[in-house]
Formats: sequence, C-alpha cells, structure tokens
Amino acid sequence: MIKDIKGLHHVTSMASNAAQNNRFFTNTLGLRRVKQTVNFDDPSVYHLYYGDENGSAGTVMTYFPFPHMMLGRPGVGEVGETQFSVPKGALTFWQDRFAAQGVDGIEADMVFGANRLRFRGPDGDALALVEAADDARTPWTAQGISEDVAIRGFAGARFNLHDAAATEELLGFMGYQRAEKQGDVTRFIIPGGNGADTIDVAALPKASFARQGAGSVHHIAFAVDNREKQLEVRKALMDTGYQVTPVIDRDYFWAIYFRTPGGILFEIATNEPGFNRDEDTAHLGEALKLPGRYEPFRDRIEANLESLAA
Ligand code: ZN
Repeated sequence: MIKDIKGLHHVTSMASNAAQNNRFFTNTLGLRRVKQTVNFDDPSVYHLYYGDENGSAGTVMTYFPFPHMMLGRPGVGEVGETQFSVPKGALTFWQDRFAAQGVDGIEADMVFGANRLRFRGPDGDALALVEAADDARTPWTAQGISEDVAIRGFAGARFNLHDAAATEELLGFMGYQRAEKQGDVTRFIIPGGNGADTIDVAALPKASFARQGAGSVHHIAFAVDNREKQLEVRKALMDTGYQVTPVIDRDYFWAIYFRTPGGILFEIATNEPGFNRDEDTAHLGEALKLPGRYEPFRDRIEANLESLAA
C-alpha cells in the first residue's frame, strides 16, 4: 500500500471564458490567482491557478479556459463536486454574498454532519463550501472576505461513479481509509493529509455518463512531498497494473497521470518546486509566465490570449 499521498494537490477544470472565470475565483470566492500561464500542450489556452498565498498543495483550483467551449453534461465517471473548507458559522456570510452576486444553484444542506453550501461556478461547475471546526490552514484574505470566513483550501471532492468498487479499492491502495456511509455515498479520509483530505464516492449505477466540457473537472491531482516519493508511487501503481505516464515537468510541480477504473483521470503531483519558482511570492499570478520552450513565441502567444480584465 502507498503511504506517501498527502491529500489533494490541485483540481483542474475547464471553462468557456477566461475573464469570467478569473473574476469568479478571485472576486467572488476571494482566492488568490497564484499563476497565470498557458496550457503546456496548447499555448493558445490559458492555465490559471487560484489558491492561498503560496498556492499550497490542497488549495489550488486550476482552469483551462477554452474560448466558447460547450458546457459539459454532468454524469458518472467524473469528479461530481469540488468542496472548499470554511470555518464553522461562515456559511451565512457566503450565502448572502452569493445571493447578492447572483451566483447560481445556491443550496444549503448537511453532509456527513457538516453544513454544506452548494453553488455553481460560471460554467455550471459543481462547487460547495463545507464548514470545518478544526482546519488550521491560513487563508488568503481579499475582496472584503475576512479571515473568520475565508476559504482555507479544499476540503475534498466527490466522485460520481457508475460502479464504485474498483475506485474504492484504488483509494484504499493509495492510503485512504473508508469512513462513514450516507445513502449512496461512502467517505474516504487520508490520515496525515494536508487538509484536503476527504474523497466521497457516490455509486450511481442508473445515471448516464458525463460528457466533458466547460464546467467539468478535467483531472484531480494528489500530493506527494517530492520527486523521490513520486517515483515510488509510480512504481507501486505500475506494479498493480496501472498505466502511468512518465514524469512530466509542469514547471511548478512534477506530474504523473493515470486513468482510473471509474473513468476519472488522476494525477500525482509533487509539492516541489512550487509557484514562487519564477516570480516573487508578493507578485504571484500578476504576469503571464511561459515555459521556456514557448518563450521565443511570447508575442504571438500574448496576442492570442484574451485579456483577463475584460
Ligand atoms: Zn494537473
């Protein structure tokens, strides 16, 4: 069994409009844009990262905004909800803020004994805030959102699956422990994690399969401390029969990817080197950063990207 996974690293989704996406995650949710770069496989598309001050693992929501992309269709075989952690009692503030800003799909309920506020991102993204009494992470504070209500990072994510058994077995192999069950949903928790520690697995055998598009999660990344641990995890997964990519340099972390039995694309990402690798912490996310191989084409790439301020 793997013992080196520390919870989530980042969640990467798709959007249809970069400026709208940027406005929602920075202004409405008050996250910090910690990096503004391009999709390393397609430099005509931004890759935007939103998180805490440093872009700590377990806080970073990232987006590929493909201009005018069609909306995804929710279903099974995908991450069905991305959950952010807020302090106990904070949901009243958020409910009022979302209502005042016209956020869609605001719905309050309880999940595994915690208050949850579900809401939709600009492309129908399935998001939620979940109250936690004991989240010690320091939040980024901006946009009039004070420390007593600000987002701490991810709480976790929910997977919507046609058949949950093989994915549950994989999570167990990755070090997650089965906790409570509530209806169709089983909670898994990673011991010793970074705060983004829960995965809820919903078994929905009658639901139809998702079609990816704007508002869908593209992949979900789990954190390991460093490249050495990543290689150990890669070997353990391959020894178990998973087809894992070679290690890929993403400039701010090292990544490996593999498709899981339930259909979700998993990534294992390192906590090193981090987002201050190529700009000062005080100015993270302000300038467009390009991987070295695209630097010679900066003028053309910049001319192709829409303004985030629009
Ligand atoms: Zn990723």
